[in-house]
Amino acid sequence: MDYAAAIRDRLPAAWRGSDFSSLLSDLETYLSPADIEGVVAAYEFSAKAHEGQQRLSGEAYISHPVAVAKILAGLHLDAGSIKAALLHDVVEDTPATLHDIEVEFGDDVALLVDGVSKLDRLRFDSALEAQAESFRKMLLAMVKDLRVILVKLADRTHNMRTIDALSSAKRRAIAKETLDIYAPIANRLGIYGIKTELEDLGFKTFAPFRYRVLERAVRKARGGRQQFLNKLQTNISRNLATNGIEARMMAREKHLYSIYSKMRRKKIPLSDIADFNGLRIIVGDIDTCYRVLGLIHQLYKPMPGRFKDYIAIPRVNGYQSLHTTLFGPNGVPLEVQIRTEDMDRLAERGIAAHWQYKAVDKHTYSAEARAREWLTGLIEMQEAANSEEFLETVKVDLFPDKVYVFTPKGDIMRLPSGATAVDFAYAVHTDVGNRCVAAKIDGRLVPLKSALSNGDTVEILTARGAKPNPNWVNFVTTAKARNAIRAYLKNLTRDEARTLGRRLLEQALRPFDLSNRKLRKRWIEKVLHELGENELDRVYEQLGLGERLAPVVAALLAQQQGGDQDQAKRERKPLEIAGTEGLVVGYARCCNPIPGDEIIGFLSSGLGVVIHRTSCPNVADFRKHPTKWIPVDWQRGIKGEFQSEIQVRTMNRVGLLAEVAGRISATKSNIDHVNVETDGDASTLQFRLKVRDRGHLAQVLRSIRTNPDVLKVQRLTG
Ligand code: MN
Repeated sequence: MDYAAAIRDRLPAAWRGSDFSSLLSDLETYLSPADIEGVVAAYEFSAKAHEGQQRLSGEAYISHPVAVAKILAGLHLDAGSIKAALLHDVVEDTPATLHDIEVEFGDDVALLVDGVSKLDRLRFDSALEAQAESFRKMLLAMVKDLRVILVKLADRTHNMRTIDALSSAKRRAIAKETLDIYAPIANRLGIYGIKTELEDLGFKTFAPFRYRVLERAVRKARGGRQQFLNKLQTNISRNLATNGIEARMMAREKHLYSIYSKMRRKKIPLSDIADFNGLRIIVGDIDTCYRVLGLIHQLYKPMPGRFKDYIAIPRVNGYQSLHTTLFGPNGVPLEVQIRTEDMDRLAERGIAAHWQYKAVDKHTYSAEARAREWLTGLIEMQEAANSEEFLETVKVDLFPDKVYVFTPKGDIMRLPSGATAVDFAYAVHTDVGNRCVAAKIDGRLVPLKSALSNGDTVEILTARGAKPNPNWVNFVTTAKARNAIRAYLKNLTRDEARTLGRRLLEQALRPFDLSNRKLRKRWIEKVLHELGENELDRVYEQLGLGERLAPVVAALLAQQQGGDQDQAKRERKPLEIAGTEGLVVGYARCCNPIPGDEIIGFLSSGLGVVIHRTSCPNVADFRKHPTKWIPVDWQRGIKGEFQSEIQVRTMNRVGLLAEVAGRISATKSNIDHVNVETDGDASTLQFRLKVRDRGHLAQVLRSIRTNPDVLKVQRLTG
């Protein structure tokens, strides 16, 4: 480590003996000199950016990022994490930008800093436990790289250590968030060192009085037992030695928050808590763990029901150890944990153990690959146990299938990933979905089909009388939204079908010199009876959907009048198409009729009327069913956009497609689809586009034709 020492010597005198130089000493034990150089550069950058800034405690601001980095160095995290820790507040709190960090330190560090900054913007202030769980999942889902969470946990740990500088209201809020969100995450990721510290600091800050009382009581109880415990420890130690077992032993004091939680959970007084003293025995291998267990059970009687084998069945976060509680001398209970060195390291560092510096791994494994490896390992270990809880919570960042967003009130909503603003609206309430007209994400207007991201605050704007758009079905991802839109459209179609059916009947009645208005109630009742229906609206609906034929119904009604049946042979007046009939009038894909074309309508059962051009080859085929044809015509001054297809034969030249497309756009026609086929010197381009009518289409064709490299332009017919 001469090289590292050289770096240290090079440091400005002011840094010697500082927190940063102590961080460097930690890093020297596991990072390469080149990595340490990078860390020094990150420190210099951060110190400069934060220059002149102070923490509330009055210390120079840089002391905070250095302390955060030191916590991570304690977990032996890689250089990228250490650099990100040093830079984690730079983007939020100084003029330096993310881009600057990317240029100086590369993508890896920039992504980590960005991830931490994003988490910093989230605030949790709900009192509901279910909301806390969602918020934890949201945090995990937001990070693409779990190192972001590790930096954030270290950040929170240092902020909790120095929380005294804040006002008491702020202290309480932060302490609560720490207990509700961050300590459980540290626990989930198996980082017990941080979890324990966050819990005790959170407890001390959130409930200072209870903390002090409990602390005093526990100290007193412990003092009384110390002598027995020492004796017991010596006994065990001697016994292991005689049996030739090498072991490391540590006396443990159960931390206050876990004693407090246990008292609350089990509703018992402190005097009933047996095991606030403990002993940890660390040995070389798993075999020895079980041998040690056997030996100490011979020395002291185990408390029934307290033995747990987390080696055979690890906890969901990967924790492994044997736990047993012994009756010591004078009946003083003692919890003993037995584990290997590896298990001990994993217990302290959890997932962090997987980013520990390994020179060989560095380039061959991405952070994701390492996280995945950790995850796979856990799943394998837990095959015997129930891993559902684990999968629900930790996998989210690696295999995201849910997205967590806020309502404007701060409630958290869970949606499948890929969910859009419309899905959100329907998740809030069907009425909100049906009437939504616009959406805001984090206060900015966005298209309704925008996919939501974790942490978004989503607001839906509604309008009275607004209706769902049939196109929404194409992008919503939740069953609730899809079903609600479909149900609405079905009702809508029914209304449209009635309107069309009434018009079809009107048209069919005209040859009899009749109209809907002239129909007598008596006639209608008779005909309804004959048709086996109860109400006229239902018949209109069937007519509109093409399930019944208007001329047949009209003839039945005319019979009631006793009118001249021959009149029925008179020419029927065409039904006028306005383009606003909705889903019950369709335009045939085979010939794409547009206003100005001669057209004919075909009643198709369940679909309503389908419009064809009279020149369409399919029309000849349909002529076999004369009763299903109805004369139709375009309404004068019809507005709207209609689909048409054209084919353009051109020279095969680079850039020509763009030129032709440009000309089409210049005539205000939208292109829906293009297909290009090239054969030798020539190309055939097919465009599906939207036009207003024949005049508009002619204009489009003309403007394409003026290009000298265009050989032929034509409209496609069926
Ligand atoms: Mn910070």
